[in-house]
Amino acid sequence: MAAIILDGKVTANGIREEIAQDVLEMQEKHGVTPGLAAILTGDDPASAIYVRNKERASGQVGIYTETFRLPHNTSQDQLMSTIASLNNDPKFHGILVQLPLPDQLDEKLAIASLRPEKDVDGIHPVNIGRLASGDPHFVPCTPAGTQQLLVRNGFSPEGKRVVICGRSNIVGVPLAMLLMQKRPGANATVTVCHTGTKELAEVTRQADILVAAMGRPSIITADMLREGVIVVDVGINRVPDDTRERGYRIEGDVDFPNVVHKAQAISPVPGGVGPMTIAMLLANTFKAAKISIHGER
Ligand code: NAP
Repeated sequence: MAAIILDGKVTANGIREEIAQDVLEMQEKHGVTPGLAAILTGDDPASAIYVRNKERASGQVGIYTETFRLPHNTSQDQLMSTIASLNNDPKFHGILVQLPLPDQLDEKLAIASLRPEKDVDGIHPVNIGRLASGDPHFVPCTPAGTQQLLVRNGFSPEGKRVVICGRSNIVGVPLAMLLMQKRPGANATVTVCHTGTKELAEVTRQADILVAAMGRPSIITADMLREGVIVVDVGINRVPDDTRERGYRIEGDVDFPNVVHKAQAISPVPGGVGPMTIAMLLANTFKAAKISIHGER
């Protein structure tokens, strides 16, 4: 039997409608419009597309957004002074530093200079620390989107064995911290795999929920999973493909055509975690604006 498709577009649309309604209410009651500043440094085409998509999605829910474009040869001082001026600009409740940055720039230094209460990507050390200590504030967008995709489709991780393949600072590690929280929608038993994991397939076969975030096209195959598993595919890989006009296709980390027959539910690529990540950025920006009005409560 084919799996239930965890449709990120449909799920994200539901979240975006909720945010649009909340933004309207905020404007009516408090005269505040949530604001998001994006800093796009250099000319990486993929980053430009991501920022454009985020800009468009923000506009659609009523969030005011502006993109600050810095040239490829921007110095650390220029980047830091852009961040400092946005930190102090009350129009912007959230600041997004689009990564990766050009080689001459220190990413960690840039992120650490954000005001944590404007770090809507949830990657400032303070926000990561709060997540690790069980008091999350802004949760990184892809992990938050993965959790929402599961919960909103009726597959809460509570009490489940979750195996996460990948331990990056933006996906695997914060997702593990999120899903092991003692909270509704989490409370899972989490295992994190990486290139040091021995007998990967033996570990992945234990999973009730398998999250693939490795950046390796179709590496998770059906024989690595048990019947009835729930699969979330975070991977976005460009695979050369002469049959496509653009010369490549986008593939996830999961061998979808075969796994779909074994899984109970599976997220597609594209159209799975990607739209959820953007929806979570909007949710975090709304939250930042709300906190600027009411404080944290
Ligand atoms: P990353 O920083 O490259 O991390 C990849 C992780 O996978 C590393 O921990 C690595 O292990 C592990 N790994 C790689 N090959 C492996 C193998 N053969 N066996 C076991 N573990 C392996 O990647 P990332 O930034 O987390 O992104 C992962 C994927 O998600 C990419 O395709 C990226 O494009 C995608 N992504 C999607 C979204 C979205 O919104 N949908 C957002 C972010 C990222 P080591 O630590 O040992 O090297």
